[in-house]
Amino acid sequence: MTRLEVAQFPCLSDNYGYLIHDAETGHTAAIDTPEVDPINRELEARGWRLTHILNTHHHFDHAGGNLALKEQWQCTIVGAADDAARIPGIDVQVADGDTYVFGSHTARIFDVSGHTIGHIAYYFADDAMLFCGDALFALGCGRLFEGTPAQMWTSLKKLSALPDDTAVYCAHEYTQANAKFAVTVEPQNEALMARSKEIDRLRAAGTPTVPSTIGLEKATNPFLRPTSTDLQGNLGLAGADPVEVFAETRRRKDNF
Ligand code: ZN
Ligand code: FE
Repeated sequence: MTRLEVAQFPCLSDNYGYLIHDAETGHTAAIDTPEVDPINRELEARGWRLTHILNTHHHFDHAGGNLALKEQWQCTIVGAADDAARIPGIDVQVADGDTYVFGSHTARIFDVSGHTIGHIAYYFADDAMLFCGDALFALGCGRLFEGTPAQMWTSLKKLSALPDDTAVYCAHEYTQANAKFAVTVEPQNEALMARSKEIDRLRAAGTPTVPSTIGLEKATNPFLRPTSTDLQGNLGLAGADPVEVFAETRRRKDNF
């Protein structure tokens, strides 16, 4: 089995578009469809035919290009059963714990509801790749538009249980803004302070900070660290339940 090839390119103001390509079968999937033209430009540049769209959730900056691309390419659209009514052109419905076979590769589906209900992530274990939409960001997590903090924490725990070397392909370049907040809630975290400096350097050079890894997120992302005694202490929640600490972290970020 050859490794999945990933093409990463900017879309809209701060989204990333991704194409994954299985050289063995020629299958090519867009992970979400933030913007049609950049996706088509990338397909053309690489000589790939779009066979699939793998949607993480229904928001316009993730599924807005579905119908135009389906009409152009007759591709198969995969999305969450729980979000099916809101995913334009959906053909295949998947749910938590399912596997989805993509060419010679297999994705495990995780329900990661919280940002929206029916948000899913695609995990390619053999390739150590996670496509998580707006659930987990580099140093952040999605806003809770539809779910509860308890639900989001349940979702994030599933992702933080993945191997440390898993590449985290999130849907937005929000990392620098996330870092500015993160350092205020856990300034004792040396790995976080070092990462924050590195992010400033990367962004000044116009370099993407995505993908990151599960290991790096576990060490530095406050939304994966509600059991950190430093974080708890800084929030005035020493010894509190992880859901409560997560909820307070999210609340502070919303007002930051
Ligand atoms: Zn979203
Ligand atoms: Fe988004």
